[in-house]
Amino acid sequence: MAEKKKSGFVPGLLSGMATTARTAMRPAHTQHYPHEKPALPPRSRGVIALQHENCTSCMLCARECPDWCIYIDSHKETVPPATEGGRARQQNVLDRFAIDFSLCMYCGICIEVCPFDALYWSPEFEYAETDIRDLLHEKDRLGQWMATVPPPAAVDPGAPAESDQAGQTGQAAAAPEAVKVILVTDKVVPEADS
Ligand code: SF4
Ligand code: SF4
Repeated sequence: MAEKKKSGFVPGLLSGMATTARTAMRPAHTQHYPHEKPALPPRSRGVIALQHENCTSCMLCARECPDWCIYIDSHKETVPPATEGGRARQQNVLDRFAIDFSLCMYCGICIEVCPFDALYWSPEFEYAETDIRDLLHEKDRLGQWMATVPPPAAVDPGAPAESDQAGQTGQAAAAPEAVKVILVTDKVVPEADS
């Protein structure tokens, strides 16, 4: 301690100024956000987007969400038979789909469990609000995020072509059609016999 006192005010000041000058010349390690946008990976978990046409109101995402922050309301409508002599059917109609991002922990479970590809990750992250209630995104707002969802990742160059897979298994070619059938039939629930 006695040694330090002897070093004096001026040498200490010069040493401090030298340190400041050295630091000022170094390149900055911080980004000037929001003037500079971060280069995020395309599959970043920013916000969840909803393709509401695909949603069948099956409630799977709402049931699996660990935070209980997905709110879904729907009603049933009777659809006339597609062909003459057929039976009228009932169809789920989505009235409300909302996610409260003030509760969401971005685990992605809802996206993983959705059997109908109605939910997607968007890398968009600039939706901070000054009022926490505005973090409740309703169906229309969730739908607007779809425009920011990146296209699916390219297939691995080493992966066999789709036509090769179809030839090997005899099933792959039929798979897309099978998905289509599920989409239609699951939206349309047969009317229960009374
Ligand atoms: S990401 Fe996780 S916490 Fe957020 S809505 Fe989906 S399931 Fe719920
Ligand atoms: S799991 Fe998918 S289809 Fe089912 S309610 Fe959720 S978003 Fe809609």
